[in-house]
Amino acid sequence: MSSLSFPAGISELAVDSGLQDIAEKVYAGQRLTREDAIRLYQSDDLLTVGALAEYARRRTAGAGKERYVYYIHNMHLNPTNFCVETCRFCSYANPAERGRAYTWSVDQVLAEAGKGAALGINEIHMVGGLNPACDLAYYEDILRAMRAKYPQIHMKAFTAVEIEYLANLEGLSYEAVLKRLVEAGLGSMPGGGAEIFDDQVRERMAVKKTPGPVYLEIHGIAHGLGLKSNATMLTGIGESIENKVDHMLMLRGQQDLSGGFQCFIPLKCYYEGTDIEAEVKEPTAADLLKDVAVSRLLLDNFPHIKAYWIQLGVELAQLALSFGADDMDGTIGEEKITHAAGAKTPLQLAKERMEELISTSGYQAVERDTIYNIKAVACTEPRLVETPMSERLSAILAV
Ligand code: SF4
Repeated sequence: MSSLSFPAGISELAVDSGLQDIAEKVYAGQRLTREDAIRLYQSDDLLTVGALAEYARRRTAGAGKERYVYYIHNMHLNPTNFCVETCRFCSYANPAERGRAYTWSVDQVLAEAGKGAALGINEIHMVGGLNPACDLAYYEDILRAMRAKYPQIHMKAFTAVEIEYLANLEGLSYEAVLKRLVEAGLGSMPGGGAEIFDDQVRERMAVKKTPGPVYLEIHGIAHGLGLKSNATMLTGIGESIENKVDHMLMLRGQQDLSGGFQCFIPLKCYYEGTDIEAEVKEPTAADLLKDVAVSRLLLDNFPHIKAYWIQLGVELAQLALSFGADDMDGTIGEEKITHAAGAKTPLQLAKERMEELISTSGYQAVERDTIYNIKAVACTEPRLVETPMSERLSAILAV
């Protein structure tokens, strides 16, 4: 039984929505089952599901941090947009055919990083396509050059997909590749490339890279080497509720084993430049909020759930903070993958703007570093949100 009491009304709401047994488990801190998670997804009572996730978020945060929402001052770098793979949901794939492939030199990477360094960023999130011209030595050179020139910047880089590709390219084990990258300056790993672990969805989407067990194996090895990492799930590519729940359960199982995941990030597919829209269902705002809420409730061993504003858009990301998310990602100076597929969110939100978005949602903005050390608790206090949650939710769902 938790020392944190349920906010007034949740128990009654849960009875009305038939979720009382799940609410009791959440309150008791018991692990939810696959069936529980499927019922939460199937429930029409989004308010109750969100309230349960908000409760779980506060308890996971710990005493004194219940209203903390984290962000980081960072930028994204994509050193190459050429990829040998052709995942059908990815408009970033094989742009060579469209005449706009690029591969940056180490100096170009440093020049781009310099723009962020001038703004005082403390993290670079670096991922790119699978490009035979970008071998292990190329990335070691980038990491070493970054460490020499910008030692204050943490390099969070290389999805499990890129690690698998580099291992195959070089004829090395995943561990050997990771060790060399760590030696050169790798600080942690992002969570991209998980997509949906279900094999049938992957086959329909022509995903040939990194099956779920390999993704988990690589993250497990990274955790064993002392690296923290994140995990993702991509929706809107023809997945079912069961596929999403099973995906999260595989992540939960790996986290039980290796413990190095920091944050789970639900992502949605953007369709511009792809040919899959007619055969998949685009997630609604309600679906996206459920992904946040159910992940908070099911992934009881993940400390953080992210509302990735560059994908969700600002308003939905703000609401997601009341559905279990406690991180809004970063100020993000440069991002190409999502914008290649049509995301219309602004490319850069200043720190002040990020803090305002969090405080006007009723939460305390906290600037963090990559591994969630607190850099500063913002002076802006959480503001009282006078609009009832039911009205805020209706406004978002009506769009
Ligand atoms: S999703 Fe990743 S691996 Fe697949 S085509 Fe796009 S960049 Fe390449």
